[in-house]
Amino acid sequence: MSEILNKYDVVIIGGGIGGIMTAYRLSKQNDKLKILLLEKGNDLSERKCPLITKNKGKGGCLKCANCAIMSGMAGAGAFSDGKYIIGTEYGGWLTDYLPADTVLSYIKQADEVLVNFGATTKVFHPNDELKRECLKYDLHLRQTDLKHLGTDENYFTMLKLIEYLKDKVTILTRARALDVDKNTNTVLFSYQNTEVSVHGEHIVFAVGRAGSQDFRTWCDKNGIECNNNQVDLGVRVELPSIVWDKFSKQIYEPKVWYRTKGYGDVVRMFCFNERGQVVMENTDNVLTINGHSYAQEDKKTKNSNFALLSTSTFTQPFKEPIEYARYVASLANKISGGSVLVQRFGDLVKGRRTTPERLAQSTTIPTLEAVPGDLALCMPKRQLDNIVETIYALDRIAPGTANMDTLLYGIECKYYATRPETTDFEINGCKNIYAIGDGGGFTRSLSHAAAHGLYIADKILNS
Ligand SMILES: Cc1cc2nc3c(=O)[nH]c(=O)nc-3n(C[C@H](O)[C@H](O)[C@H](O)COP(=O)(O)OP(=O)(O)OC[C@H]3O[C@@H](n4cnc5c(N)ncnc54)[C@H](O)[C@@H]3O)c2cc1C
Repeated sequence: MSEILNKYDVVIIGGGIGGIMTAYRLSKQNDKLKILLLEKGNDLSERKCPLITKNKGKGGCLKCANCAIMSGMAGAGAFSDGKYIIGTEYGGWLTDYLPADTVLSYIKQADEVLVNFGATTKVFHPNDELKRECLKYDLHLRQTDLKHLGTDENYFTMLKLIEYLKDKVTILTRARALDVDKNTNTVLFSYQNTEVSVHGEHIVFAVGRAGSQDFRTWCDKNGIECNNNQVDLGVRVELPSIVWDKFSKQIYEPKVWYRTKGYGDVVRMFCFNERGQVVMENTDNVLTINGHSYAQEDKKTKNSNFALLSTSTFTQPFKEPIEYARYVASLANKISGGSVLVQRFGDLVKGRRTTPERLAQSTTIPTLEAVPGDLALCMPKRQLDNIVETIYALDRIAPGTANMDTLLYGIECKYYATRPETTDFEINGCKNIYAIGDGGGFTRSLSHAAAHGLYIADKILNS
């Protein structure tokens, strides 16, 4: 057991990219600082999803107390595709608080750190010709510089960075923060079957999506105002990679958004994975969909996939967008007998279920073993109509998108942690207690969470 002190200069809760970058910058700038990083999941090399390692992807999720995909050192991004956005047009809301050039500068600094630990230097640049083509059809291409580390390179970069930090920072894994006393700056956490209390002169909540519900509960208990009422709900689309390769070959990640004629809602294409795989993810015991792709040629598939999400922003009196999304996703889990659904686009528009026999006829071979079924039984009409209309709109710029055998997996949802009221990210009513990254509702990408981690470290160093 690592020696645990009573008192630390900084306690970081969460070992995702935000927490790791905070620890990196602090320890690099001042090697005298006593830093403790608590991570409720496993060390990166011990993060193994039993569904993948033991059941070879078959059967339902085992609903582990700490999901190996979402929790553990390197956080939610550990097994991600490692798309690294070098821009501020999307990826989070830090520009609501800081000048865009400051955010961009921190994103670039975080990128340099990753490059020092092995990340690629290759950058994909925006393409105005494609943007123009999208505009012809009332489709909008979001553009920014982008890197693609790939699932493998991303993993090994983070592995090296964490190994480097282990000499400089006390990192405790399977250590779950249970409470923070905002009056005494005491952090209570469970570790190796005991409860431990330490004092942190500075405390950083970097808890990601896996910790956002507990963080919300903590805010409510401590009378801290929170807001954010947006939720994105939809499906993961999978199709032959050649359908979108005109885009993916030039800009790697096409991010197109569309305002539907039917409802006037925004539907956005998100998280494009060229020749990738569709994967299941478990967030607090609800199974949802995601996707990734490897950089290594021998691990590539014949399909590309992307999320297609319809955005809803709720107004009074409804205040529980996360519960709403979880409810819809859990309906899909119920209908599929504890798994996730897959449906051919052609079956969906004909108003019929995809049966195992129909799926067997599909010319697009699924990369995830999901249960063939009917998304219309669980997805609300408004979002489903939006998805169908957008698929037809996208078909104009990438013909083949609206084919019979385009596969739709559900439910994919992105919900954003409720954002606490802060002053320069110091939580209102607290002294030296900060919230950063996805868990604080400020970011939704690796690069922005990483930049936020560096920013908060500088703030602490300058305090
Ligand atoms: C499958 C997948 C693919 C993705 N792909 C990309 C991509 O290609 N590009 C991109 O930009 N973004 C991607 N994202 C999003 C990206 O991973 C997140 O935006 C980013 O990881 C947020 O970083 P973070 O440090 O804020 O939180 P996280 O990475 O979520 O880390 C938070 C950590 O805190 C820990 N924690 C929570 N509560 C506690 C507690 N009480 N005590 C101790 N520890 C706690 C969690 O276990 C977790 O490890 C992807 C996400 C997923 C799930």
